[in-house]
Formats: sequence, C-alpha cells, structure tokens
Amino acid sequence: MESWLDHRKTRPKLLLVDDQPMNIRILNELFRFDHDVFMATRGEQAIEICREQQPDLVLLDVVMEGMDGYQVCRQLQADPATRDIPIIFVSAKGEEEDEALGLELGAVDYISKPFNPTIVRARVKTHLTLKLQSDYLRSLASLDGLTGIANRRSFDERLASAWAQACREGSPLSLLMIDIDHFKPYNDHFGHQQGDRCLRQVALALSQTTSRPYDLVARYGGEEFACLLPDTHQNGAIEVARKMQAEVAKLALSHPLSETSDKVGLSIGVAVLLPTPWTEPSELIRAADEQLYKAKHSGRGQISVASL
Ligand code: GH3
Ligand code: MG
Ligand code: MG
Repeated sequence: MESWLDHRKTRPKLLLVDDQPMNIRILNELFRFDHDVFMATRGEQAIEICREQQPDLVLLDVVMEGMDGYQVCRQLQADPATRDIPIIFVSAKGEEEDEALGLELGAVDYISKPFNPTIVRARVKTHLTLKLQSDYLRSLASLDGLTGIANRRSFDERLASAWAQACREGSPLSLLMIDIDHFKPYNDHFGHQQGDRCLRQVALALSQTTSRPYDLVARYGGEEFACLLPDTHQNGAIEVARKMQAEVAKLALSHPLSETSDKVGLSIGVAVLLPTPWTEPSELIRAADEQLYKAKHSGRGQISVASL
C-alpha cells in the first residue's frame, strides 16, 4: 500500500544500535535499500550519532556492554536536541516487565528477539510515518501561511536563542526591520490578490539575500519583515539591507500610486547591539523600529542605521 513515506524526497534515517555486529547486519539487510542506515555498537556512540545525524528512528538493543539501552534511552530523552527521536527497543529480554520499563522510559515500541522480519519492517514503517508527519506539522507551525517563510512565532523564538548565544559569546547581534513602502495604495489599486502575490515575491527575494545558516528572514506582520543576523557587525547588516533593496528593485513591480517611486520598494531600519544579560531583546526591536520610522520619514526607499 502506498504510504505517506513514499512521497518524501529524501530517505528516512535509521539508527541501528546493538553490541552484536551480527544483529546489526541482519537489520541492515532489512532496511538498507530504502533507508539511510547508521550503526552503533556502543551506547555512547549511539548518542553521538543521534546528536549529529538526527535520525528519524532508533532501533535500540537493551543488553549491551557498558551503557545499556535503558540508559541510552534516558539520555536521549533528557536532551532537547534528541528528545523527539523515537526509539524502538529490540531485545532478547522478553519479560513483560522489561517491555513495560522500556515503554515507561518513553520508547514508542518494544520488539522481542528473535524477531520476525515482516513485523519489524511493518512497525518501523508505522513509527517512521508518525515521526515524519509530526515533523511536517511542526514545520507548518513555524512558517507563515501566505509567503512560506518563517513566521512571527519562529522569529520570536530565534531572537531569544540568538540573544542568549550572543550574550555567551560576547558577539554582536544585528536586526533589520523591513517595510514595503506605500503598500496600502498598492493594494487599493491592484486588489488584495495582487497584493498577496507581491508579498510572496518580496518574501522570496528577501530570503535569498542572506547566506549564513543562522540568519533568519521572517514575516513580522502585514507587509513588514524582520531579518536577524547573529554575529554580524553594522557593516555586514548594512550590506544585507542594500542587497534586499536591490533584489526587490530587480522584481520591478510597478507601483503607479507610490508618491516616492514608480516601483515597489522598501524602507529598512537597522540596529546592532552587543547583547548583555541585563538588557532585553525588545531593546533591539525598539531600536530597529525607530530607524525604520526615520527611514520612512526621510523619503522612503531609505536605509537608516542606529549609531552605536
Ligand atoms: P508606508 O510607506 O508608510 O509603510 O505605507 P503603507 O501603505 O505601506 O503602510 P500602512 O501600514 O498604512 O498599510 C499597510 C497595508 O498593508 C495595509 C494593508 O492593506 C496591507 N496588508 C497587510 N497585510 C496584508 C496581507 O496579508 N495581504 C495584502 N494583500 N495586504 C496586506
Ligand atoms: Mg508599509
Ligand atoms: Mg507597515
């Protein structure tokens, strides 16, 4: 039967953990054709692979030399970075108490050895489907429905974590507040559907201007966007702001009712702070907002920068 898994572009990642290489080999034969399989023969190694590779599912032996499967499960569950990785115990300990303990520790399933290959495959498929569906739902909750870029909620979360990291590292944090100029008359003139198309095109153009993995472009609300640039000084932030204006200019969206230009354009406020534990992320937003206001009032299509 065709399943949700069949529509994925990438193969699901599966981690096999067993201190007997023979057992790993048998499982690998079952899964290697349609999964990316990772293997570990020790608990510590399994945890490391989970942190680095973020597998979609772990098949975990219980009785192992050194760290046992229950301990591995406890550690994975205790770490926010690995907590969402589902675990299936595969164990020769077939007593009911063993299974109960495994499930109590947070495993999604418990399979007794010797196992029936068809049953193992079926259960793995079921749990992978559930995992990938919940990943998908989680991703929807952080994306803006109209433009498909990050939403306000993920912006707020990322600002908080970027702030904490910048405090620890003593590095600067830059924020751009970006607003489309005279967007109300654009909507009034072309209608809301064209207004929405314009927002989608601008969002895409903006999201293509940053390149580092921790940079974030989000829809902040309405026709306003925010761009967070960790570990970035003023010059870098201004460079991104210029690039954003240039990319939107390239879209060449005509705007006959704008008082300041014949094309859709942006005003951008830039603020850079060295975060400290006794200042608040809201200060960075306030500073960038203030500059956005200045950019608007100095003729729109401008970039205004908070002086440090
Ligand atoms: P300014 O240059 O000062 O920024 O002027 P403005 O007209 O862009 O600003 P204002 O805040 O007065 O108007 C924003 C408009 O953005 C209001 C609304 O028509 C439009 N808008 C906000 N959200 C959406 C949306 O999701 N879709 C569409 N089509 N329009 C939106
Ligand atoms: Mg506007
Ligand atoms: Mg606005």
